[in-house]
Amino acid sequence: MLQPTPHPGVLKITPYVSGESCIPGVDVVAKLSANENPLGPSPRAVAAYSAAADGLHCYPDSHATALRRALGRRYDLDPNRIICGCGSGDILSLLGHAYAGSGDEIIYSQHGFLLYALITHSVGATPVVASEEADLGGLRTSVDAVLASVTPRTRIVYIANPNNPTGTYLPAGEMARLHRNLPPSVLLVIDAAYAEYVGEKDYTAGIELVESGPNVVMTRTFSKFYGLAALRLGWAYGPSAVIQALNRIRGPFNVSTPAEAAGIAALEDTAYSACTRAHNEKWRAWVTAQLRALNLVLTESVTNFVFARFPIDKGYDSIGADAFLRRDGLIARRMESYHLPQWLRISIGRDSDMHLLINSLTEFLKRKDAA
Ligand SMILES: *Cc1c(COP(=O)(O)O)cnc(C)c1O
Repeated sequence: MLQPTPHPGVLKITPYVSGESCIPGVDVVAKLSANENPLGPSPRAVAAYSAAADGLHCYPDSHATALRRALGRRYDLDPNRIICGCGSGDILSLLGHAYAGSGDEIIYSQHGFLLYALITHSVGATPVVASEEADLGGLRTSVDAVLASVTPRTRIVYIANPNNPTGTYLPAGEMARLHRNLPPSVLLVIDAAYAEYVGEKDYTAGIELVESGPNVVMTRTFSKFYGLAALRLGWAYGPSAVIQALNRIRGPFNVSTPAEAAGIAALEDTAYSACTRAHNEKWRAWVTAQLRALNLVLTESVTNFVFARFPIDKGYDSIGADAFLRRDGLIARRMESYHLPQWLRISIGRDSDMHLLINSLTEFLKRKDAA
């Protein structure tokens, strides 16, 4: 029977599965599966959001002018080269739609953020997966592998820096080398969703690379560090031509008034940002050391989550660990969808969540020593 059919790429998409937030029969203590800010947003952001309740009958400013100006002030950028969106996922997707289509190739890394595969199929382009470096079982983007994957059909390279779910990053020099060796017709998209967490001296979010050529875009989000995931707010900085192209195809009201107001307040509350950063650094170091002491293998995460490999022994593997944590009300993220079934991704939570996490996993792994 004749019926409407989506284009072939659409049927290749495995729908994105978000971090779970409930466990049947158990009271959830902490959702450590979506890299949210466990301290919540700045109280000033919440106040700005509430104050926006008076204007809900009006359409938002379709250019998010005030937020782009605030971002421009904060990072010393030209607001005309900033675009805001309904989460950075929105902007990553707009980039795919504007610059690639059927017959084109999009490159991303083997364990790169899953959204890139989804976008590639949704625009009807062909995914090209660059294998990762051999250290730590291959859990860092390889600039050489990405460059070796470039063909005349390549339109976009998506790199999360640092990457989710591995937590690892490429130093500024490596990103610059990648950019230097890409054809100028290929758009390099640097997804810096976790940039605010990174303290490493050789890391940069990519602003200076955007300045250095017409083919680099950096995307950022308010969902992680700023604790505003529910409001769906992200932004990108890029060359004028790219920003103009995205402005042509975006939804005209892709940022709501309450989101914009909360975003500006969050950005300006630098004291609160310092608390978030300090909390994350303290607990990431502590959890990493504790898990390594339990003989788990961890990547060198620079983000607000850790990435841990469990033994292959049945009952002591990541599936067993996940089940054990759930019994205690903790939800971690399993990694089958990334073809890394031995690994769990665990977000940094509140103080008490982190103690519970370590107590729970200590008990879980002790059973193994006894066995
Ligand atoms: C969470 C995340 C995003 C941000 O998504 P939003 O749409 O802004 O909520 C983008 N990239 C990566 C790698 C992420 O982990």
